Amino acid sequence: MRDRRVLEQLAEVLAVVRLPRPLTLRFAGCDGTSNAWYEPEDGSVTFCYEYLADLRKAAVAGKPGRVTLQEAIDGPTVFVLLHETGHAVFDLLDVPILGREEDAADAFAAITLLRLGKGVALRMLRGAAWSYFHEAHSRKMDESDYADVHGLDSQRYYNILCMAYGSDPDYFAAAVKDGRLPPERAEGCVDEYLQAVFAMQKLVAPAVDRTAMERLRVKHSKRFSAGAR
Ligand SMILES: [Zn+2]
Repeated sequence: MRDRRVLEQLAEVLAVVRLPRPLTLRFAGCDGTSNAWYEPEDGSVTFCYEYLADLRKAAVAGKPGRVTLQEAIDGPTVFVLLHETGHAVFDLLDVPILGREEDAADAFAAITLLRLGKGVALRMLRGAAWSYFHEAHSRKMDESDYADVHGLDSQRYYNILCMAYGSDPDYFAAAVKDGRLPPERAEGCVDEYLQAVFAMQKLVAPAVDRTAMERLRVKHSKRFSAGAR
């Protein structure tokens, strides 16, 4: 992560949002706890090394196939960092949330990646989706999963596919063609995507530096276009 400058690149992306207080992103040892969270008190997002190690272990054991090992690790890492940043942005910008904040934070992460360009979105979301799919099928669910504040891993998997497909049904057509996203869900994905974009435009975009955002988008589409498939 350090070699690939993941935090630095994320910081560059997030710098386009003018926040009223500084937000710190960090990887840290968490005494055995495998987690990531936003701490409103000191305005920081912490991603535990233990969590990173678990993602790596799952990627190696799960043999992602179509998704590269790197994507299966980087995808969920970046997605979760952006998800936590979503919580931070909602807090710092006083964004009202109707519905579940965890779903809103996932939407924030997906939209942010999709706005950075299709190449990077495809690679990172493919990795994140793989991770949720793998999690969903590698352990037995119990009541605590249904009671949890987060959606089920399978639901988070389909939500990611739906957001990506909804953003550009031609570019992400394989999600439906390969039988991963059911046509019944796919049908409404453009509307789901536009609804989330509308919320972002109303509630977050006023704090975004437009010129910096455009500069970043051009830079990223150039950087990742070579690796886009
Ligand atoms: Zn969360």
